[in-house]
Amino acid sequence: MLIYDLDFSALTNLLKEWNEPAYRAKQIWQGLYQHFYHSPEQFTSLSKPLREKLNNLDFAGFNPSVVQDSSDGQTRKTLFKLPDGHLIEAVLMRYDPDSNSTKGRRTLCISTQAGCAMGCVFCATGQMGFKRHLTSGEIVAQVMYYARLLKEEDLTVTNIVLMGMGEPFHNYDNTMAAIDRLNDADGYNFGARRFTISTVGLVPAIRRFADEKRQVNLAVSLHAADDASRVEMMPINKRYKIEEVLDACEYYVAQTSRRVTFEWALIHGVNDTPEVAKKLAARLRGLMCHVNAIPLNPTAGYHGEATDRQRAQIFKETLEQAGIPCTIRMRRGIDIQAGCGQLAGSVLST
Ligand code: SAH
Ligand code: SF4
Repeated sequence: MLIYDLDFSALTNLLKEWNEPAYRAKQIWQGLYQHFYHSPEQFTSLSKPLREKLNNLDFAGFNPSVVQDSSDGQTRKTLFKLPDGHLIEAVLMRYDPDSNSTKGRRTLCISTQAGCAMGCVFCATGQMGFKRHLTSGEIVAQVMYYARLLKEEDLTVTNIVLMGMGEPFHNYDNTMAAIDRLNDADGYNFGARRFTISTVGLVPAIRRFADEKRQVNLAVSLHAADDASRVEMMPINKRYKIEEVLDACEYYVAQTSRRVTFEWALIHGVNDTPEVAKKLAARLRGLMCHVNAIPLNPTAGYHGEATDRQRAQIFKETLEQAGIPCTIRMRRGIDIQAGCGQLAGSVLST
């Protein structure tokens, strides 16, 4: 059993079964989530027999099998091998005002599934298909791995985006359990507002998420302004049409008073023209939202090309003139296949 799969009450129950006093649970919880201990020997305040019992639990969940740094040193991708052999990836992106500063942002992009069932044609994870859901502990373990690494530099993770491999809303319960565990005030205490969940647009899950009124940010991958274009890129659009997705987003905004982000991979000649921008703006009018556009990252199984800087700028300006705020995001970690949607690229080619 992976120790990160236990929530606090499960850990408390386990210690009760072991006839240990209740305060031990708190000590272990703090060891895990505040000191990032990753082996029983590190829990020096515990008795030796208890440390030996802890040896029956798994403290890792996976082995980091490949670690790659981008040439500018600002992006690190780690490929983890799960006990059943599946591979997942997590990417750390540093945005430091200067390299010695602790003030910068360090955004961690984590996976929620091995592979993905949604089959978006431009996405490397979609191209590999679905392997399995990650447990909540396997999601948490990715964060602990990087938290530990950054601690060596006296740094912390500042933002977590669930934009690695997989569709978080297809693995809803485990994803939310992981967020709750990381959010726990007596543990890692990572603020809800510093998480962003990205979804392909599973309408019932968006509504459920809205009803739960979490403070977590929501991003919805749109990529097209009409159903005929979207269905060619994203098979899920057969089930949930753009209109339904936007209705669910409106419901989310109404329930939470939070802005929704739409993600848009700019593909040359496909969805990057001023006409498309105008159509998109017309559909989004009146919704409290923001568009995050990123030039497509190349993947082995898709022939589309990235939009160049100039066309991207025109797309942004067209949207903004129509009243929709838009940011063009920089592509990061392209040289190590760590860009959005590129994860698992290395898996496919081995
Ligand atoms: N399954 C979720 C989250 C993981 S994908 C989702 O689809 O939203 C994270 C983001 O990367 C999504 O917005 C997705 O559409 C985008 N993406 C996938 N492949 C991409 C590519 N090749 N280039 C740029 N963005 C891509
Ligand atoms: Fe899955 Fe997201 Fe990739 Fe689509 S873009 S295949 S939903 S990971």
